[in-house]
Amino acid sequence: MTNYMDPQKVIEKLKSMGAKRILLQLPDGLKPHVFDYFTELSKNFQVIVSSEGFFGACDTGTMDEYRSVDAVVQMGHTEIPNVNYGVPVIFEEYVHPSNEDFKDLDLTPIREKGYKKIGILYSIQYREGAGKLETFLKENGFETGIGQNDGRLKYPGQVLGCNYSPIHSNDSWADCHIILSTGTFHSMGAQLVTDKEVFLIDMSEPFRLHSMKAEAEKRVRLRYANMARALDAKKFVIVVDTKVGQFRLKLAEKIRKEIEDMGRVAIIAYANESNPIDFQNMRPDCIIFTGCPRVATDDFMRYETPILTAQEFLMIFKGKGNGKYIFDEIVNVDSIN
Ligand code: SF4
Repeated sequence: MTNYMDPQKVIEKLKSMGAKRILLQLPDGLKPHVFDYFTELSKNFQVIVSSEGFFGACDTGTMDEYRSVDAVVQMGHTEIPNVNYGVPVIFEEYVHPSNEDFKDLDLTPIREKGYKKIGILYSIQYREGAGKLETFLKENGFETGIGQNDGRLKYPGQVLGCNYSPIHSNDSWADCHIILSTGTFHSMGAQLVTDKEVFLIDMSEPFRLHSMKAEAEKRVRLRYANMARALDAKKFVIVVDTKVGQFRLKLAEKIRKEIEDMGRVAIIAYANESNPIDFQNMRPDCIIFTGCPRVATDDFMRYETPILTAQEFLMIFKGKGNGKYIFDEIVNVDSIN
């Protein structure tokens, strides 16, 4: 068992809160450790392991699951501070041990464009690496800034796929942004919220600065095509995701009112999973998904029916954004408890 998976700290915390029955959530990458971890925790508590995938700190299992336990232990993510979790949740953050000093990183892409002031961002596991990148950039004559987080993020510079507040706090100052992450999920979202160029350093590959501009422009074109298909919709299903950190019922109700004021029909449906068939069986002309915005922006190909985020609905039917694409960031959610 790695130090990270050493359960003793968690056991002490659970004892101090008097927990007896707990739900354990492990991301797929850590599931191979579940036998050791379960065995240790079971010496002191009744443990339920969630076998399902989960999406992050917005997802502490179904309502039924987490209401039946005294505490949840979630590995690999960090809390969303402004979510009312209802039951105590122990988040065991995973921080990728950073031995990198970035000295081999080719800075030509940002030098060629004359960028001098750089905002630094990271997905949570690369928090240590972000500090090292900042040092490296400063040594090479750049100005750097780690942007301020809002209440949905725990740390300055951190991003979630639904919240890029550190970009907004740096955007007027920075010439461009660099994000440390794995794959393009976080960097795509970052580029969708800013006109400044975003460069990804994919920590799972040899380091290089990869511009996200072209891919994000392509994504926006696809989103506009999806929105155009919804223009004549008469019947809407507005989905409220019941995950504790995605629950936006008030937003759904506001959109339903807008739709009714347009003389069209809308219903609100609850879901804990975004399964296209579940929504399409209701035969809507358009689905508006108010939970994770990435369901619409990244997974829309799975849907035959046009699927929009709340902001996309407001863009095409209410003229919001004056022609500029608005990514549906989550700032806060309603309390589900
Ligand atoms: S709402 Fe989506 S992007 Fe935000 S934390 Fe949850 S899974 Fe990630």
